[in-house]
Amino acid sequence: AELELSKTGWLLDITKLTLGEQIGEGEFGAVYRGEYMGQKVAVKIIKCDVTAQSFLQETTVMTKLQHKNLVRLLGVILHKGLHIITELMTKGNLGNFLRTRGRSVINSVQLLHFALNVCEGMEYLESKKLVHRDLAARNVLVSDDSVAKVSDFGLTKVDSKEPDKAKLPVKWTAPESLKKEKFSTKSDVWSYGILLWEIFTYGRQPYPKMSLKEVKEKVEEGYRMESPESCPPNVYSLMRLCWEQDPRRRPGFSKLREKLEQEMRFRSEA
Ligand code: ADP
Repeated sequence: AELELSKTGWLLDITKLTLGEQIGEGEFGAVYRGEYMGQKVAVKIIKCDVTAQSFLQETTVMTKLQHKNLVRLLGVILHKGLHIITELMTKGNLGNFLRTRGRSVINSVQLLHFALNVCEGMEYLESKKLVHRDLAARNVLVSDDSVAKVSDFGLTKVDSKEPDKAKLPVKWTAPESLKKEKFSTKSDVWSYGILLWEIFTYGRQPYPKMSLKEVKEKVEEGYRMESPESCPPNVYSLMRLCWEQDPRRRPGFSKLREKLEQEMRFRSEA
């Protein structure tokens, strides 16, 4: 993977990087603000060598992905562990963004914008036959001009040939993935439904007050979350379609985008 990255120009030069303050903390390392050859960037530093290897594999996948609604990889640096350099998303993750601002600041058209941004990013991944597996508001980042972009894509796929069941984000994971470890675009669609719920509740925790065990059991029996307060009925209908028990009955991301665009036109004209 290292050789491939160096041949294709994705290996960057540590001497051209200036590290700034820490802006986040991830499972595998801290995230810093930085500057690379005059451009503002985010730098994730992976500490552990073993995980660095799998991240290196995955960044080779990321080099092939370019879309306005995916956080863009700029390159990697191999220096005391792996540095992953991406575009800087100054407004942080979507969950925090919505929670800290709330209803008084963000209206339903802006919420639809975020929903549509993520949907378009996922439609692109779908077209590349890539499964995200960890789509959630915490993994969507917001740019300076308030565009939402999917982040952490593909990262989980690498070290999870046998996905560690204990680590699955239960409240976002489709029933068939929890039971049979079957992941597909349609299980991403399930997660997207949960993400829609997060967006229209301004960043609440899904299935409030329910334990993970309870969620697994109840959802398997057909239980689904209610509509968020003042959520457009058409948007709630989309959530319910994403949460069809049978993955084949769930819409794809292209269909979801069409429906969201319709709703957007309707809301912006009103
Ligand atoms: P992990 O996936 O290991 O949890 P993340 O990549 O989600 O780590 O990063 C953790 C946090 O760091 C994010 O929630 C976000 O607030 C911040 N962060 C990550 N990447 C960027 C970025 N490109 N621009 C700005 N902030 C970022």
